[in-house]
Amino acid sequence: MGVPFRIVLYAENEMRAENASNAAFGRISELNNILSDYDYDSELSRLSHTAGSGTRVKVSEDLWTVLSTAQSFAEESNGAFDVTIGPVVNLWRKTRRDKTFPEKTRLAEARKAVGYQYVLLDPATRSVELKVSNMRLDLGAIAKGYAIDEAMKILKTAGIPSALVSGGGDMAVSQSPPGKDGWKIELPVETDASAPSGYLLLKNQAMATSGDLFQFVELEGKRYSHIVDPRTGVGLINQRRVVIVAQDCMTADALSTSVSVLGLNEGLKLARKFPGTTVRVAETSNHKSPPLPTNSIIPISPPKKKTPERR
Ligand code: AMP
Ligand code: MG
Repeated sequence: MGVPFRIVLYAENEMRAENASNAAFGRISELNNILSDYDYDSELSRLSHTAGSGTRVKVSEDLWTVLSTAQSFAEESNGAFDVTIGPVVNLWRKTRRDKTFPEKTRLAEARKAVGYQYVLLDPATRSVELKVSNMRLDLGAIAKGYAIDEAMKILKTAGIPSALVSGGGDMAVSQSPPGKDGWKIELPVETDASAPSGYLLLKNQAMATSGDLFQFVELEGKRYSHIVDPRTGVGLINQRRVVIVAQDCMTADALSTSVSVLGLNEGLKLARKFPGTTVRVAETSNHKSPPLPTNSIIPISPPKKKTPERR
């Protein structure tokens, strides 16, 4: 998935800690072989290679779970979140390397192969058809979250109650470290200042960040993010930095990218569908070294506790 993963955990002894973390890393590696778009041979890449051929491909449960969740985010965000963005993302990756705008004709060509509505999911057979030639799926905005959740599940099964799993700015935590009220997480800096912009105290929660803090290209004085607006085919220029806290990391991951594209108002409408989330957006219009004037932290009410059934 192109990022290092990290696990911190508390266990009674070293052997237990090592066995549990090995098993969790094993699961992450297994998921990398399925979900990575960097790996030419991953299950995802093999699926992409069938695009436009009229074939339906039966996929693994993991790929199915991530793809079907991605598709529901695409629908709920009106296409702001779209994992078929691959061909356009590839052009912008090249732009980051070469520091020149994508050629207009190539961008137009790439955009023809983008559109979540061209992904056909058949739940009865758990199979997928990519209806248009040259489609390329990119799960970069959701797969890390899923892998983190899955690694956490493995740790819980191995009897580890208190752990943190992170990868590429996203993370999940289980119970607090011994004697603490939660996991103290330093938020990413939002300006060029070296001071951290604050802390969160998390337990049994997940957090994801999106934005152009590390991955962007600067062209003609404008900063273009690695996140692309599928409606224009252009890297975001709004310099939004989004932090989402949610109940699970796949939701946090997909939401953080969606809110980056949608902006605060539209983003909140989407986030409201996931009770128990907190949305934090810092944003500015495009300048070289900008201050980030808007800084909104919006907690969305936690899920209502189920009242126990009466017998
Ligand atoms: P994240 O860091 O989770 O916000 O994910 C960013 C990554 O998701 C990018 O590097 C692309 O691989 C991919 N991506 C870019 N734009 C979009 C989009 N609009 N919808 C879904 N995935 C995207
Ligand atoms: Mg994301």
